[in-house]
Amino acid sequence: MALAGTEHDQAVLLSAPDIGELEQEYVLAALRSGWVAPAGPDLDHFEREIARRAGVPHAVAVNSGTAALHLALEGVGAGPGDVVVVPTLTFAATANAVLYTGATPVFADCDRATGNLDPELLAGLLADLDAEGARVRAVTTVDLYGTCADYSRILPVCERYGVPVVEDAAESLGAAHAGRPAGSFGRAAAFSFNGNKIMTTSGGGMLVTADSGLADRARYLAGQARLPAEHYEHAEVGYNYRLSNVLAALGRAQLARLDAMMRRRRAVRDGYAEIFAPVDGVRLLGGDDPAGNCWLTVIVADPDRTGWRARDLAAHLRAGEVETRPVFKPMHRQPLFAGARSWLSGAADALFTNGLVLPSGSALDRSQVDRVLDGITGFLAGRR
Ligand SMILES: *Cc1c(COP(=O)(O)O)cnc(C)c1O
Repeated sequence: MALAGTEHDQAVLLSAPDIGELEQEYVLAALRSGWVAPAGPDLDHFEREIARRAGVPHAVAVNSGTAALHLALEGVGAGPGDVVVVPTLTFAATANAVLYTGATPVFADCDRATGNLDPELLAGLLADLDAEGARVRAVTTVDLYGTCADYSRILPVCERYGVPVVEDAAESLGAAHAGRPAGSFGRAAAFSFNGNKIMTTSGGGMLVTADSGLADRARYLAGQARLPAEHYEHAEVGYNYRLSNVLAALGRAQLARLDAMMRRRRAVRDGYAEIFAPVDGVRLLGGDDPAGNCWLTVIVADPDRTGWRARDLAAHLRAGEVETRPVFKPMHRQPLFAGARSWLSGAADALFTNGLVLPSGSALDRSQVDRVLDGITGFLAGRR
């Protein structure tokens, strides 16, 4: 397959890790210090630095964003017999974490402009569930592709029903909404440092929260729920979710460069905005939100107006070894969730059909970006 392994300088990838000298320096220093794993000073610093960035007092480093989501849901008490609202347009991890707790996910459709949870639809859904007497333990929000959900409208709706928000901020570190940073909106939030995210620890995540009890419990569960006794005492099921000190060192170097990497991604996005501006029927998902982190740029092409489909552009770019990806297949369309209840407007389905994720990484150099833009220009010229 052309996009793998040794062909890296050939293919233009969607969102490859952006690793430089600073990362080498931090990781080498961690290795030389002898603090390899599990704990260490970089881990403590990394937690404090992410907490500061998210504007919350507590952070617990874990080995994936999915683990952070699981612990956040556990922290709000999700369990068998409970219902948790999940946006249908998301990566499977959001819904999988609900299953880990034994709770049942129900799916809600999105706003067509951003792909994020539709606040009005959420209000109707919570009213329906309330009338049924369902035990709704949490509403999860997803800050899709780096644009925060509309918390100004979502939080009051959730407050009306006394349901806590668990924020899946896996894609939105560094973004903001109404002047508040991503990760600060929910009772707890989860960041991901997976390899393709805005910053990476190769694999990792972070739970952030203002609730010290929730943070303490998450830390305890992430360490196999080991009670403070020398002889390994355990009273409940725990998990091996901790992040290593070496990976935290990598994360600290990445975090020091986060703003620069966000600027780079925004410049790439601006290039797409410019090239598609004169094209009738194409828009950027999330528009030009100045507070987004520009993790991934997604175009939405309405075939009735463009005369072409998103997948036609994808095929054209693939021929030039430029990687693109469809928008997430909605959860209500997944075989895993075939029996789940959903409140739908059709917006997520439309974005799945008409959306296309374009190369957006901060490691893309000028010539790679030009190759993508030239590819798009060539495609558009052939369609006129
Ligand atoms: C990446 C991602 C996750 C999972 O993060 P991992 O670190 O890969 O476990 C969860 N939710 C969303 C929306 C994501 O994009």
